[in-house]
Amino acid sequence: MAIKEPEINIKRVSHWIGGKRVEGASGRSGVVWNPATGQQQATVDFASVEELDHAVAVAKEAFKTWRATPLSRRSEILFAMRELVHQNYKKLAELITLEHGKTLADAMGEVSRGLENLEFACGIPHLLKGGFSEQASRGVDVYQIRQPLGVVAGITPFNFPAMVPMWMFANAIAAGNTFVLKPSEKDPSPSLFLAELWKQAGLPDGVFNVVQGDKVAVDRILEHPDIKAVSFVGSTPIAKYIYETGTKQGKRVQALGGAKNHMIVLPDADIGMAADAAVSAAYGSAGERCMAISQVVAVGDETADKLIAAIKERMPKIKVGPGLEEGSEMGPLITREHRDKVASYVENAPKEGATVVVDGRQDPVAKGEGFFLGTSLLDNVKPGMKCYDDEIFGPVLGVARVKTYEEALKMVNEHPYGNGTAIFTRDGGAARQFQFDVEAGMVGINVPIPVPVAYYSFGGWKASLFGDLHMYGPEGVQFYTRAKIVTSRWPDPSTSKVDLGFPRNR
Ligand code: NAD
Repeated sequence: MAIKEPEINIKRVSHWIGGKRVEGASGRSGVVWNPATGQQQATVDFASVEELDHAVAVAKEAFKTWRATPLSRRSEILFAMRELVHQNYKKLAELITLEHGKTLADAMGEVSRGLENLEFACGIPHLLKGGFSEQASRGVDVYQIRQPLGVVAGITPFNFPAMVPMWMFANAIAAGNTFVLKPSEKDPSPSLFLAELWKQAGLPDGVFNVVQGDKVAVDRILEHPDIKAVSFVGSTPIAKYIYETGTKQGKRVQALGGAKNHMIVLPDADIGMAADAAVSAAYGSAGERCMAISQVVAVGDETADKLIAAIKERMPKIKVGPGLEEGSEMGPLITREHRDKVASYVENAPKEGATVVVDGRQDPVAKGEGFFLGTSLLDNVKPGMKCYDDEIFGPVLGVARVKTYEEALKMVNEHPYGNGTAIFTRDGGAARQFQFDVEAGMVGINVPIPVPVAYYSFGGWKASLFGDLHMYGPEGVQFYTRAKIVTSRWPDPSTSKVDLGFPRNR
């Protein structure tokens, strides 16, 4: 297949409706920054209610033919999309880096994990197979089919502008739904690039639409009668709002929220390995990952002392710089306001009783024009301190000291968030007990960022997820389809008679 180079115009970022770019007419827009320079690089249109309604009407019309498109053809388009994303890997990663700020290598990792979801959805003919029970009653067969819902919407966060939309739309579209995506207004361009790739892959116009915007677009999504389901990923207060408002309107909603991921280090752990893992998972993507490790819980003072020394030794070697610059390992934060908010946790930590071991605000990178902050390490962090209770979402790692495994477990289980967690140990029995006891949706055993592969599903517990079903993988397919159970018989009309009794299956 000949692949055409998609056109990219990042100066004015607009909508994608009905298979083409549509410039916003609301007169409202937002600023897209370049976090590495601190300069504005684009404006993004903010949709009005009418513009959102138009996208939904287009998607509703497209649903009529898309749901009737054979599974083999849908799968073929998914394969083509997979190929196109693969071929445009670097271009997509560059777009992510330009607006988000994460390093190019990290952005390529994001594309790779997004791609897994397209690969999973290529198997949609298999995934949509129902069940069939022959002779459920005399001459009666019962079978289940799963059908798409209609128009579904995705509302996504800034920190994974390509992967999180792929978590959602791969299964939604493969299952026969049509999709309206409302990306983060902070880094909206990757969504349009993905839309262009869908078109090249042969997806009919109107099946995938992008509406840029803010609360106006989100609120209209939540109340629009023709949107049947909403997938959301973002911070906990907004996730809760989306879940409560969407379900009140009778919609199916899955709303993934924030996190505070604890990493327990037992005294028998390999300290070098635990330090490598903590540094990578805390400071990768400048800590702006919902699966970042932001809190270490060291069992025993000796473990804590050795671990802090090992982490401290590794920190100065991290190269902080623009994401597109060769050799950069950590980029800037998303906005100046967010950078300052993250820094305020470090500033307040001593007042709360924590110890600042390394202060990222003193790093020369934090003094430039871009939204950079150096890496910080806090010791003696405890529940009740803001630097412990809150999701900081920046390059700040806290260490808490406890005496026993039970104390460490209690901390994890009592924290309101329950997204991911990890344990570092060489004791298989302790690890298995942790896996059994811990109240979190995703658990790593000597793995700091346990993001499930695409053929499992992703989701946290407690305040990290509102809704019943996790995202992507088998639960994603379940979310975007509804079951229909058919009971059928083909009797000989001569045996037919009136029978007012309730049908019995014997
Ligand atoms: P956010 O909640 O600010 O925004 C997410 C989306 O909601 C965006 O599209 C935004 O435009 C919209 N939004 C923001 N405020 C709104 C409002 N008042 N009303 C309606 N819509 C609104 O989140 P963010 O800052 O973009 O992303 C970071 C957060 O996302 C972190 O808390 C992180 O943990 C979380 N996150 C969670 C997961 C997960 O899988 N659990 C994955 C990635 C990110």
